[in-house]
Amino acid sequence: MSGYWDPHIERMPLEDLHSLQEDRLKSITRYVYDHSSFYRQRFKEAGVEPDDIKQLSDLAKLPFTGKVDLRNNYPTGMFSLPMNRVVRYHVSSGTTGKPTVVGYTKDDIDSWSESLARALTSIGLGRGDVVQVGYGYGLFTGGLGLHYGAERIGATVLPTGVGSTERQIELMQDLGTTAIACTPSYFLHMIEVAEKMGVSIRNDTKLNTGIFGAEPWSHETRKRIEDATGINAYDIYGTSELSGPLCTECQQKNGIHIWGDFFLIETIDPKTGEQLEEGKTGELVVTTLHKFAMPLIRYRIGDLTILNSEPCECGRTHPRIMRILGRADDMLIIRGINVFPSQVESVLMKIPEVGDHYQIVVGRDGPLDAMTVRVEVTEKGFSDKIGDLMSLKKKVAKELKSVLNIAAGVELVEPGTIPRSMGKAQRVIDNRKV
Ligand SMILES: [Zn+2]
Repeated sequence: MSGYWDPHIERMPLEDLHSLQEDRLKSITRYVYDHSSFYRQRFKEAGVEPDDIKQLSDLAKLPFTGKVDLRNNYPTGMFSLPMNRVVRYHVSSGTTGKPTVVGYTKDDIDSWSESLARALTSIGLGRGDVVQVGYGYGLFTGGLGLHYGAERIGATVLPTGVGSTERQIELMQDLGTTAIACTPSYFLHMIEVAEKMGVSIRNDTKLNTGIFGAEPWSHETRKRIEDATGINAYDIYGTSELSGPLCTECQQKNGIHIWGDFFLIETIDPKTGEQLEEGKTGELVVTTLHKFAMPLIRYRIGDLTILNSEPCECGRTHPRIMRILGRADDMLIIRGINVFPSQVESVLMKIPEVGDHYQIVVGRDGPLDAMTVRVEVTEKGFSDKIGDLMSLKKKVAKELKSVLNIAAGVELVEPGTIPRSMGKAQRVIDNRKV
């Protein structure tokens, strides 16, 4: 088992952690009220004042915020400090409407790196590791976020960014990369490219750890990656609004520890906004306790998850979010039934003849919604015999139906047909929106 980056904080008794959170909640509430006209207005509308927040359970009195507020206050209307205190911007490209801008003070960058330093240590990384950062550098938070976190723990950073996959694999070999951070779909692509180059990641590289995120991925995909390469694949979580990538699973691989001294998390019913008890699936809501350029109060992230504050075997007391099911926004409604792309993925990845890449195409069949899952067959599973392919097609359709409770068309395609992504994979093509 790996050590701790900051044992005092990471193993803090729950009681002490809660009282630290309480103090920080009171001060951040006062802080945003005093510094941000946006929050002052929002608090007034909700009939709440900073003095009403006396304990953690008073959190529910505070109004929600969301992505729409960031857009409506574009570019910097939700900042709580003047520009001369901001040392960096990151900007996330909006798929719809305006992008969102996040600003950081020097201290904000510092706690972001600290958060990742704890996380990377928890998966066994440290001095002597070579961390290849295959997330995009630039306005996207992934590259620079991981970069600073890995430098902080004394690891050697190889800032490859996204793309030039063959070169990435050569450098991985030449410079002895031990850990890679990128999207899981990009890593799957890397495995393919390596094979074509005659390189076995398992035998010809020193890679032993993967830090994968920025898109939802299933337990079954983890298994595929680990079986194919022999590495340990860990899930990482964060969003640009909260700084960027922030927290990972520990070596137990059973939920992502969210650092309680930095963030206060709750789950709510996405429809009613009511707080849910632990163990129920709900929308993740985060209050930043230690962020100053752009603090967020009860920010609705949109991701669906389950909270778990049971003690973890790793000894860390900070609460965990269990594997993200997807964003509430990503949920497809097909003939009235809720379908998450991650559910489709977990079905497909259990079938050995199915390749690592897939797409979900939604359209209309007359007045009805129709969903087709485009599935790549593995080189091995790709047979000239029509009969074999027909029975595979039937098998996939049957498995999908039993999990999704809805019939989906299945289209089998040759290996290498579905476009590969270097960043977030486009898994869903919804033609109904066109
Ligand atoms: Zn743990």
